[in-house]
Amino acid sequence: MSALENIVVVGVSLAGLRTIEALRREGYEGAIVALGEEPHLPYDRPPLSKQFLTGEWDQEKISLRKQGFDDLGITWRRGERAQALDAGAKEIVLESGERLGYGGLVIATGSVAKRLPFGRDLAGIHVLRSLGDAVALRDELGRSPRVLVVGAGFIGMEAAATCREMGLEVSVVEPLEAPLLRGLGPVLGPYVGEKHRSKGVELRCGVGVEGFEGQGRVERVRLAGGDSIDADVVIVGIGVAPAIGWLEGSGLELDDGIVCDGAGGTKLPDIVAVGDAARWHNPLARGPVRYEHWTSAVEQADFVAARLLRGPDVPALSQVPYVWTDQFELRLAVAGRISPGAEMHVCKGSLEEERCLVLFGREGRLEGAAGLRRPRPLLGARKRIGEGISFEEAIAENADG
Ligand SMILES: Cc1cc2nc3c(=O)[nH]c(=O)nc-3n(C[C@H](O)[C@H](O)[C@H](O)COP(=O)(O)OP(=O)(O)OC[C@H]3O[C@@H](n4cnc5c(N)ncnc54)[C@H](O)[C@@H]3O)c2cc1C
Repeated sequence: MSALENIVVVGVSLAGLRTIEALRREGYEGAIVALGEEPHLPYDRPPLSKQFLTGEWDQEKISLRKQGFDDLGITWRRGERAQALDAGAKEIVLESGERLGYGGLVIATGSVAKRLPFGRDLAGIHVLRSLGDAVALRDELGRSPRVLVVGAGFIGMEAAATCREMGLEVSVVEPLEAPLLRGLGPVLGPYVGEKHRSKGVELRCGVGVEGFEGQGRVERVRLAGGDSIDADVVIVGIGVAPAIGWLEGSGLELDDGIVCDGAGGTKLPDIVAVGDAARWHNPLARGPVRYEHWTSAVEQADFVAARLLRGPDVPALSQVPYVWTDQFELRLAVAGRISPGAEMHVCKGSLEEERCLVLFGREGRLEGAAGLRRPRPLLGARKRIGEGISFEEAIAENADG
């Protein structure tokens, strides 16, 4: 077993917590210090744009550990932020100036929501990343505001659907020509967009936001081209960036995430990284990739714990990305990728029925699959993407009847 006596985990949300659990499963009995800037015990983020926002679920329901945390033997340092890493001294510098020594270090600081460069002095403008963000937004939604969502990606479209289901007037503004283009491609993106329109969401694509206007709080959103839309609450959903600013100058390789080998090992000894903040070498993608998905963080945890305890001989994780989204009645999940220009084949139902499997092929290979209320066939397709089967074979395997 490992000679490490003291492991510090920075960032204690999904990736950090699942790594701590994996370290204990691997038999690590030494000290674990969990340092996280949020005051809360680890909670799940996906419900923040769904059941938590409506008030259907409370904070207890979104805890990441129903059985509690006591058995993990963690020393908590909650509400404290790591400000810098002094890898030479094997210490983390906290905002207070205190230095926290480590034998092994797990970096799991995730990502932060991007913000627009204007409107920072106005009330009513929100992002949706943390429990604090969701509570602040939920409090405002109770006053029946007109809601405008900037950005038609997964978070923006989920928030729009949830607000509309709460009976609110909702507009979405997206600079690209269709919603969810990056995540779902040119057919499924507009398909989900039509669902929103049929439910009464005003969806404006191909136009950017140029500014917010109001006295003290937002009242109007100014669009490129001169139009404006009245709004009492704005949700900015324009993507996330890895939370790695505190690691500048530490000696770690940073390039849209902490660059890691195939099991989360970094350039520096006894330091690993996991989850949204990390860019692992993925053998299937033949290069480093950073995923911003729940399942990636969970699947990486076992590998990164083994990598920290046992060193570089731990095999690489071959990851086929997987993400799900719930919007109105649509239960959609995607495995692999949907690249522009990919061939598409619908089977096991139809888009009209909102129940089917959609296969995506490129250069003769199955590269992605989307499932609408078809979880099992999608999991099968995910496995087959990892095995590198041909598009033709995938179509034959999933033939109806
Ligand atoms: C509203 C919402 C809905 C989502 N829905 C889905 C979904 O439907 N499907 C899906 O696949 N994925 C979804 N995701 C994405 C998924 O939640 C993330 O991929 C996952 O949370 C990543 O886990 P993580 O632990 O790497 O990072 P995070 O969850 O971002 O956690 C990082 C933690 O580190 C802390 N931290 C950051 N910097 C520091 C520092 N310097 N010092 C100390 N602590 C620090 C942060 O405060 C945070 O607590 C959603 C995300 C959000 C926000």
